[in-house]
Amino acid sequence: MGRWEPDARGRLMAAAVELFLERGYDATTVADIADRAGLTERTFFRHYGDKREVLFAGPVDVHDVLRTGVVTSTRPGVAPLTLVAGALDAVCALLQGDRERSRRRQQVIDAHDVLRERELIKLAAMADTIAQALRGQGVADPAASLAAEAGLAAFKVGWEQWMTDDSGGRDLTDHVRGCLDGLVGLAGGSPAPQSPTQAQATTKTRTQPVKDSPPPRGPPRVSPTHERPDATTASVVVLGLGPAGRSVTHLLARAGVDVVAVDTAPDRPWRPTYAAWHDELPAWLPPTVVSTTSPARAFATSEHELARRYCVLDTVGLQQHLSLGGARVVAARVLDADAHRVHLDDGTALTADLVVDARGSRPDPTLAQQTAIGVVLPRSSAPMLEQTWFMDWRRDNGTGPGDPPSFLYVVPLDDEHVLVEETCLVGRPALGFDELRRRLHTRLAARGIRLTGDEREEHVRFAVEAPAAPADPTTPTSTARMPGGRRPTTLRLGARGGLMHPATGYSVALALDVAERVATAVADGTTTASDLEALVWPRPARRVQALRAIGLTTLLRLPADGVAQFFEAFFRLPTALQRGYLTDRDHPALTLASMASMAARLPPSLTKIAVTSALPALPSTASVTRRRVR
Ligand SMILES: Cc1cc2nc3c(=O)[nH]c(=O)nc-3n(C[C@H](O)[C@H](O)[C@H](O)COP(=O)(O)OP(=O)(O)OC[C@H]3O[C@@H](n4cnc5c(N)ncnc54)[C@H](O)[C@@H]3O)c2cc1C
Repeated sequence: MGRWEPDARGRLMAAAVELFLERGYDATTVADIADRAGLTERTFFRHYGDKREVLFAGPVDVHDVLRTGVVTSTRPGVAPLTLVAGALDAVCALLQGDRERSRRRQQVIDAHDVLRERELIKLAAMADTIAQALRGQGVADPAASLAAEAGLAAFKVGWEQWMTDDSGGRDLTDHVRGCLDGLVGLAGGSPAPQSPTQAQATTKTRTQPVKDSPPPRGPPRVSPTHERPDATTASVVVLGLGPAGRSVTHLLARAGVDVVAVDTAPDRPWRPTYAAWHDELPAWLPPTVVSTTSPARAFATSEHELARRYCVLDTVGLQQHLSLGGARVVAARVLDADAHRVHLDDGTALTADLVVDARGSRPDPTLAQQTAIGVVLPRSSAPMLEQTWFMDWRRDNGTGPGDPPSFLYVVPLDDEHVLVEETCLVGRPALGFDELRRRLHTRLAARGIRLTGDEREEHVRFAVEAPAAPADPTTPTSTARMPGGRRPTTLRLGARGGLMHPATGYSVALALDVAERVATAVADGTTTASDLEALVWPRPARRVQALRAIGLTTLLRLPADGVAQFFEAFFRLPTALQRGYLTDRDHPALTLASMASMAARLPPSLTKIAVTSALPALPSTASVTRRRVR
């Protein structure tokens, strides 16, 4: 696992604009563009449908930005044109980063009728989106359509001014705002006030500090819509916009639920390269968020071809797909949160029917961690990089049998690039980056791959255990944290909620799956907070988690020279049993069968470790044993 910054899209765009200006739009082919960018045509078509799209498909969906801009500018009594200004501010902030590049693109468009026509269609679509968003905020027609069209006219003129303004004193936002104010002046009105988005020049918003108000009364039903007395009240508040928080926010907003999402950096691009077994991905995810899918291999003490297909997600594509349109997004640090109340570092107190905590795992040295160092290499560097290696425990990394082991992980990022990582699966403490880097370089050299030193290096460090929350039923990562009868505080999701596999560190596919179940239940309108807890942690899943935690304890107790034998036993299991331990949460008996079957294949000294690791957890798993095994 690791992170990777794909730049194929940007390179293709730069190459296309260069060629369009050099040779003309008509004379430039997709093959020319791919060639100039140093990529293949296949890669081109993974990013763009045709050469025209290169000029019009930005890295972020402009319609999402417009919708978010309208929603985050909404305040009681605000004029429709002020909401339009907020939406346009957000788009300007997105587009004004590189004026020279925008100018070159505009030069190409201006020179071709077909492209000019496409540009006009794009502007018309933006006006439609704004009008729709205004209607969503209760602005009736014709005011919604008129305000949207007027806003787009101001945007168009402001854009043209910005393209020709070489003074450098005014950015795109200033020009568009100036045009909008001028437009209002023409009608004899006063200019639209500064919106919060203009103040911040981003799509984020900070709510104003208000006095604490009491939590909602009545039965703990999660109402999908809310009579909002002010901007600090919502049906659902989601804390954290990593994969877990963003997916649930996206799905809630899409279902029309009144949701506020809080993150210290809501717009920060995700960096890690997320991967999962293909059969773990929920059906609601479009295939476009998957970057590569391949058969995987493993090497413990012998080589294994794994039956399940492994996929690497397109991190950028996934984050974009999980758009936040329709949600109110707050950029702030959460100080503390309980079932209905959240305190932010700007003094704001948010209240909600439901608070979802998806703030990820805490950097806590007492928790078992996974660490890795990776490099991104051209796939053509060596034949071994043509294959996906889920785990390769061979000791050609300069270590001896007594050294704590680490394994090689190799996954294709796209047609041309591979992520190669030296990984410490779990440790308390885990191996450090210097040691992992040394091992990776030694291993690659042993396999004929010399690094130049210019490779992008990827760092991985995260806790595989959830932060301790004694007696909190939403984090059953060990028997000590199993249900204790206390009423839950927040609904915890993702790594925060113990939804990470404690023995492998995987959580993303499950987070996406659980997000859909939670969002559907909340949108239904009859769900209570405890229904949701049961949905995230059905009884079988709690038992499975307790069993998986035994796997973690075993791994942490294995002698260094026993780890490869342990995984040899695992990879010799039938696929259904491998899946039973890695993925299944519905059948504790299957998880147990997988572990028992594996223990039976281990040498006696390792079987003893596996069995004694299970002893402290037996009370919580006994019912499974009684019913299914005896
Ligand atoms: C480099 C790397 C690679 C990984 N690869 C994989 C993989 O291939 N497959 C897999 O399943 N898992 C992988 N993992 C493990 C794990 O699934 C990820 O860490 C995943 O990001 C967890 O998602 P999450 O949404 O639960 O938490 P996070 O992604 O950690 O998101 C938490 C969010 O909460 C915000 N936040 C935190 N504290 C506060 C606060 N006080 N106030 C406001 N906001 C706050 C953060 O800004 C962040 O946006 C990887 C982890 C790393 C680090």
